[in-house]
Amino acid sequence: AKSAGKGCYRVFDREAHAQRLKASQLEAQLPLALKQDEFEVFYQPIINLKSGVVKGFEALVRWNHPQLGRLSPDQFIPIAEETGLIQALGEWVLQTACAQMSAWHGMVPGPAKPSINVNLSARQFAQPHLLKSIQNILHRSQLDPAYLNLELTESCIFNRDQETLRLVQQLQELGAYIYLDDFGVGYSSLQYLNFFPLNGLKIDRSFTQKLNCHAQTQAIVRSVISMAQALQMEIVAEGIENYQQTHCLSTLNCCFGQGFLYAPPLSGADAANLLTQQLSF
Ligand code: C2E
Ligand code: CA
Ligand code: CA
Ligand code: CA
Repeated sequence: AKSAGKGCYRVFDREAHAQRLKASQLEAQLPLALKQDEFEVFYQPIINLKSGVVKGFEALVRWNHPQLGRLSPDQFIPIAEETGLIQALGEWVLQTACAQMSAWHGMVPGPAKPSINVNLSARQFAQPHLLKSIQNILHRSQLDPAYLNLELTESCIFNRDQETLRLVQQLQELGAYIYLDDFGVGYSSLQYLNFFPLNGLKIDRSFTQKLNCHAQTQAIVRSVISMAQALQMEIVAEGIENYQQTHCLSTLNCCFGQGFLYAPPLSGADAANLLTQQLSF
């Protein structure tokens, strides 16, 4: 048993080493990948839980790596943050997603136009030209800012100071909406709601997944939702995988959700197909 234990450690070491090696390879390749157009934005539908209608999409980036295949953001976003490339990558995602949504609006008649949610990382949020860059992107893409939702994590607005508050307000003055992402994962979510004039919040997947069986989780989510409603915030639940969760969220008055039950993140072409199908209902 002892020697097997030792063997396990060796395997573990080797894996850790391989992972570090891969990370440093990805780090070296990241700048060129952006120039060579290896990134792709996928779109996960956000659904009105009562009607089933698509309210909008969350933009989620992928890296189509020439040797390793399609990489998920967890494999390269942290590296992009460390190296600072997240600035350029984040701008590219924003530009691509806004231009895509603007094009989709061209094919959707009437007022029921879908919105686009884009994730901003802490480092991006801290860059001095963020406001100007978003302004330029909105101008270039001709997207009505009322359809842009920016998803911030607690790490973006960690500093509850006047400067951060001002930036949030300026983004809202552009016409965009500010969502707090991964709600419930951090330590002091409630203090953020109290300090920043937020427009929406996304209930983290870890809560959604415990809803079925956990009376305590239900109680927490219920009070988060009623509080957010009192603040006139929109609520979106992440990671819905079964109808029990949808049912539970509906009884707790959560209007919107996304998850594999409805659709995984889709390529631009598949998301466009979904919108077209919906139009012909
Ligand atoms: P997130 O913002 O919490 O996004 C939701 C993640 O949950 C996505 O993972 C999505 O594919 C996954 N998901 C959706 N529905 C389900 C479900 O029913 N079950 C489960 N188990 N998972 C579900 P993804 O696409 O791998 O993205 C991971 C994270 O990477 C995102 O988490 C976000 O924090 C970050 N990310 C993705 N794209 C960008 C980006 O363009 N910029 C920045 N800064 N971060 C990004
Ligand atoms: Ca998100
Ligand atoms: Ca999340
Ligand atoms: Ca997130």
